Amino acid sequence: MTIDPAAAPAREAPTGARRPRIFSGIQPSGIVHLGNDLGAIRNYVALQAEYEAIYCIVDYHALTSTHDADQLRTRTREMAAGLLALGLDPDRCTLFVQSHRPEHTELAWLLCTVTPVSWLERTPTYKEKVEQQPHDINHGLLTYPVLQAADIVIYKASLVPVGKDQAAHLELSREIVRSFNRRYGDTFPEPEAVFTEAPTVLGTDGVRKMSKSVGNTIDILGEPDLIRKQVMSMVTDTLRIKRTDPGRPEVCNVCQTHRFFGPDYEEIWDGERTARTGCVDTKKLLADRLVRHYAPARERYLELMAHPADIDEILEAGADRLRPKAAATMDEVRRRMGIR
Ligand code: ADP
Repeated sequence: MTIDPAAAPAREAPTGARRPRIFSGIQPSGIVHLGNDLGAIRNYVALQAEYEAIYCIVDYHALTSTHDADQLRTRTREMAAGLLALGLDPDRCTLFVQSHRPEHTELAWLLCTVTPVSWLERTPTYKEKVEQQPHDINHGLLTYPVLQAADIVIYKASLVPVGKDQAAHLELSREIVRSFNRRYGDTFPEPEAVFTEAPTVLGTDGVRKMSKSVGNTIDILGEPDLIRKQVMSMVTDTLRIKRTDPGRPEVCNVCQTHRFFGPDYEEIWDGERTARTGCVDTKKLLADRLVRHYAPARERYLELMAHPADIDEILEAGADRLRPKAAATMDEVRRRMGIR
């Protein structure tokens, strides 16, 4: 399912009937990159008006790769500030930290008992992580998708805005739900992924998905100089060797990124095709546009980070608001499974 963030829903939330519930989680990795924004956060922001939106900073998940307590605490706050700066509105959505609602881990354990190990072992992200951190193949990496399923279904969310890299996990969540419902009766809805118009944003290398762990990011809330440096390092059309060679915008990552930062991208593409403009010109223009586009968010981010108590208050309020929902699901699940 794709929802165009440009066609953002009406600002006012519908009243009366309960709005469909959506959920998404993001790891507290400190930086927010362009892939996060175009692939997921734009949809978080657009959908908070129309849906009952719950957004979670998944620190339990981050523990599968981060083992420094101070760093995790800092990054959790930074991610919250980043999301708020990019447009999450605590009056319209619920933003909280995963570990503040420990029911998630209890439900994850219960869901583990209906999840065959073979489903987890074949998950592409597990295989990737095993390659990325061969010195630290902890059990959390394997169980990761079960905890993710628990995050979603504990609130009985039916839609999950995520990037395409999460599609396999979402499919697994659906299988886990089916497995649970088959054994214990109809309890959870099958969650469905919601993608943006940019479901996979490539990194500056132009080959792999943009990702913190790969180190090919554009850090949209960073200093303007950093953004410029990262954009200027982007790999363009590798067959365009000389300035006079015609470019191929359809395979150029810089040209593709322009689609999201101005209505004139087709003119920019035309300039490349006819070699009127060179790759450097197109990158400089993109860097200028990114710096300008994200300047207000960066300002809000710095302002929020200067008031950490305000961020913590928003996160605490979010977790408190969710307590009755999590408790109600856990009551039902424990009863169905015979442990209450
Ligand atoms: P990362 O992959 O950098 O560690 P996360 O796993 O925390 O980022 O992802 C947070 C959200 O951003 C998820 O919904 C994910 O699908 C989305 N996302 C991350 N990277 C990209 C990308 N390169 N393109 C599209 N969406 C992405």
